[in-house]
Amino acid sequence: MARGARRSAWTAAASASAALTLFAWTRDTLDGPWIAASVAALGLGGFVGSQFRGRIRITPEAADRTRHSVAEALLANIPDPVILVDRRAVVIEVNPAARALLPALKLRHPLSFALRAPDVLDGIEEVLRTGAPLKTLYTTRVPTERAFEVQLGALPMPDGPAGGQPNVVLFLRDLTSARRLEAMRVDFVANASHELRTPLASLLGFIETLQGPARNDAPARERFLGIMKIQAHRMTRLIDDLLSLSRIELREHVAPTKAVDLARIARQMVETQGPLARERGVELTLEAEGVHRVPGERDELLRVVENLVENAVKYGGSGGRIVVAVTRVAEPPRRAQVVLAVRDEGPGIAPEHIPRLTERFYRVDVASSRDQGGTGLGLAIVKHIVNRHRGRLAIESALGAGTTVRAFFPEYVAERDETAETIPG
Ligand code: ADP
Repeated sequence: MARGARRSAWTAAASASAALTLFAWTRDTLDGPWIAASVAALGLGGFVGSQFRGRIRITPEAADRTRHSVAEALLANIPDPVILVDRRAVVIEVNPAARALLPALKLRHPLSFALRAPDVLDGIEEVLRTGAPLKTLYTTRVPTERAFEVQLGALPMPDGPAGGQPNVVLFLRDLTSARRLEAMRVDFVANASHELRTPLASLLGFIETLQGPARNDAPARERFLGIMKIQAHRMTRLIDDLLSLSRIELREHVAPTKAVDLARIARQMVETQGPLARERGVELTLEAEGVHRVPGERDELLRVVENLVENAVKYGGSGGRIVVAVTRVAEPPRRAQVVLAVRDEGPGIAPEHIPRLTERFYRVDVASSRDQGGTGLGLAIVKHIVNRHRGRLAIESALGAGTTVRAFFPEYVAERDETAETIPG
């Protein structure tokens, strides 16, 4: 019947529109574009309905099937888990994301078999009682700790076999990564404040001593002023490193495109740091032949070499020898890589520390890092710069066998890239 078909088209469009609106509500994005999409879905339904008028005969069963497949397609394309339950909390419909999260979910089985969350089950009852939507939390510990915000809303089912009995739709929004990021931010602020507070407390202590007991003690004053200068420098270094880190992070998604000769940068840094290393009894040598170009930002690459050489001198200098090498590795069909390696013959690092060395403020030995003027941010800065250059960092070390830090960068391929860009079509 044409009337049936028209009605079905309108109903499917209304369902699509309602689902879009509900989905937007659950994501707090019920704004212009979403409303426009819902209106468009309704409009499309109206148009399709009007086209059917008097032309095509569709049975109510066929219309039901169409409507069902529209709803299924919509559900399948929602990336977050969605579950539909009836008023006894028995599962009626689930989307693939919900099945992936809760493998025990089965149609026509109580939701409580798969989702053991009293707050969510109570929430379903409350939504049915009041008709008002609500949000609650669902957390899991196994296999990993995860947290979801569950948004519950009543869904009237005018055409359903239960005739007007509302169902309840549950949208689950994964909060795990947002929570992890928040925890990392809080840790970072706490660490940064602690790192600044320590030299600040020592400065305040010396100022009080100079104003009080050491007021007229000239030799003590000289000594304290020397320590205060060191602490003030430490705070400056820390703030500089924090600022560098946030600047690099801000640009991390924009990969540099200019060709930079990494061998030249390494040569320059070895020349600058050579005298300083010699003062500490360390021989610093370079192994780099020819030109090794990478798409890069010169200042950032200088910083990478500087931090790695400084670390090798500070922590591996006792070995007496540091080698900075720049080489090319080609493993076709993969793009060739330029590798910067800084190798020392110092005491090395125990394996349990290696995966954590690029974390902010992580040090193997806090006291020795502080004595050497370290901020605990050097390798974190290196890692972010290497990431921005679409490269990779590898730390190889064993106790008593020295340390080698390697940074791999994609090689610069000018001609091919430029030709590809200029050939039309
Ligand atoms: P820091 O400012 O403390 O030097 P980094 O992030 O540069 O911070 O390094 C983190 C830690 O890694 C250092 O505190 C040190 O314990 C360890 N480390 C880095 N490079 C070496 C190395 N070449 N040999 C031994 N330990 C190293």
